[in-house]
Parts: sequence; structure tokens; C-alpha cells
Amino acid sequence: MIVVMKPDHSPEQAEAVMTRLGEFGLKGQPVFGVTRTVIAGLGQVLQDHRDDISMMPGVDEVIRVSKPYKLSGREVHPNDTVIELSHGVKIGGGHPVFMAGPCAIETEEQLWASASGVRAAGAHVLRGGAFKPRSSPYSFQGLGVPGLKLLRQAGDEFGMPVITELLSVRDVDAVAQYSDILQIGARNMQNFVLLGEAGKTGKPVLLKRGMAGTIEEWLLASEYILSEGNPNVMLCERGIRTFEPATRNTLDLNAVALLRRLSHLPVIADPSHGTGKWYLVKPMSLASLAAGADGLEIEVHPNPDHALSDGAQSLTPGNFAELANECRALASALGRPFAEPPVAVPVGS
Ligand code: PEP
Ligand code: MN
Repeated sequence: MIVVMKPDHSPEQAEAVMTRLGEFGLKGQPVFGVTRTVIAGLGQVLQDHRDDISMMPGVDEVIRVSKPYKLSGREVHPNDTVIELSHGVKIGGGHPVFMAGPCAIETEEQLWASASGVRAAGAHVLRGGAFKPRSSPYSFQGLGVPGLKLLRQAGDEFGMPVITELLSVRDVDAVAQYSDILQIGARNMQNFVLLGEAGKTGKPVLLKRGMAGTIEEWLLASEYILSEGNPNVMLCERGIRTFEPATRNTLDLNAVALLRRLSHLPVIADPSHGTGKWYLVKPMSLASLAAGADGLEIEVHPNPDHALSDGAQSLTPGNFAELANECRALASALGRPFAEPPVAVPVGS
């Protein structure tokens, strides 16, 4: 249920609602980003609970949330969530962003070449994996903490917030220390313990869709983060596994358009993993924007032929610059122009 407080309610009245929810065995969760004070009552809600709360002083109305996902849906939060990052970067709210960089951080030289290329082309967020979820245990697993440190350094040097995958609860502190956004990968979409721990850090979280995750399962997964009191969640469509082997995955653009309707959370598309082929990344980036995506996450490598992971789907910096120009032109034509590039802030300020 959603408890909407009267405009002139007192803090004690809101506190009393939280206490009563607790007595009913429900979790009281203030809802962020709305103009009125709104408290979600999460758990097994009975009609008696709603009746009781609706009579409490300071309560304006109690709304039954019909969808199973309570905090991510537009029922509770009609306006788009906007996530604020360093360097003035904002995600959500009608101005798409680019998140770009290598699949995996390999060397300082490789990361710097990627970062300088994507920054020059107008990227807003630098991506790079330090803990890689590889299908084979014999493949490159990422540089670990030294990779995180390089990513942080590159982000500071080139003036971009950074995103990297949080693969395991083991790494929560390190990833939260060095990264601006925690990425939960497809393979962990339903790792509920990890989602809860990511939520508790308070850092923005990008939740990728599991390769066989339904839209409802995905939104319910996002609730594990949101219900920790962390409102800064974005959803990333990265392709689902279908019967079609001609591409690595099938980028589900239905999901992008549908989520924009169902949820207030920013929706990012990842045409790199969604297609697995570098030459399909530009057309599917354009299609993602047309479907309403709030951003694109794209793999860029200075030398894709020699990449230690996902070379076949990685763009060169030059190809990324071309993609960025076409995406900007399309987004402007659609009336949702890209966000301004990050503001250069001197390191240490
Ligand atoms: C990645 O972004 O490099 C990655 C491993 O993505 P996914 O979890 O979507 O496979
Ligand atoms: Mn990858």
C-alpha cells in the first residue's frame, strides 16, 4: 500500500505511521522523488491494515498498489527518476547519455586510449570491467582491485563518472569505494543477496536484465535494491537468449518501450551484448533511442581484434564517434536531445 500524508502533516504523524506499519509486520519505506510525503507499506498487506492506517492523523489517503512491483512502478512514482552523478551528469528524465569503454580493463594504456576516445566523442560515463563473469574459468577474469584503481584514475583524469560490475558480495566494499555506479550483470539479476548489499551501499546501481529474466522478474529484482532505501536504480536491457543463433542475444526493444511505460526508473540499452557484433551496434543504438532509451552502454576498445574479452562486439573509438554523432542527430530529431557532456572538474576539487 501507499500512504499519502496530508500536506500539513507533522513529522510525528509520519513517524506514527511508520511505527504502525512495523506493528503490522510491514516495512515502511519513504518514497523519494515525489512532491508529497509518501510512505510505502511493503509486505503482506491486508484490507484491515489499509483501513487502520487510513484513519490515522495526518494521513490523506491510502492507495492499494495493484502491481507486484511496488517501488519501481509508475503507480507510486509517476515522474521519471533522475540519477545525479559527478561532473554534472544526470541519467533519466528525457536526455539520453552514453556509457562507453572497454568490456574489461586490461592495461593502463588500453584503458587510457579507450577513455580519451570516448570522452572526445561525447561519452558521459566511462565503463570498464575489473571483475569479469566469464563463461569459462580459463578465460581472462579481469584485473580485480588494481583494475578498479585504474578505472577511478581514468575517470578522474578524463572527467567522467565510472561504472563497473559488482560480481560478488565479496567485492562490495572495493567496488563501492572506486566506482560511481555499481553494475549488476545479467548473470546476477536474481542474486538477491547481492542486490540487497548493492542497495545498502547507497550508490547508484545499474541492474542488467538476466538472459532469461521476464520483465516482471526484473522489476521485482530492482525492488531488492529500492527497498533498501536506495532510489538510484537504472535498468539495462542487454539482450535475452532466444532460439536465434545468428546474433549473440536478441535485444528486446519491446522491453525498453514497455519499461518506459511501467516504471519511472531510467532504462539503458546495451546493444553491444544485445547483438554481439560490432557492425550491429550502431543500428541497434539508434533503434534503442527510438524506443525511448535513457542511455546506451557501449563497448569500445582501441584494438578490438586483440581484446581479452568481447572483441567481436567492441567498437573502435572512431566507430564510436560516428555512432555518437548519428545518435545525437536522431535524439534531437526525436525531441529528446542528449545530455550535455560531463563538466570538466579539476581532480581533487
Ligand atoms: C558486461 O557489461 O561486460 C557484461 C558482462 O554484461 P552482461 O552482464 O550483460 O553479460
Ligand atoms: Mn562485455
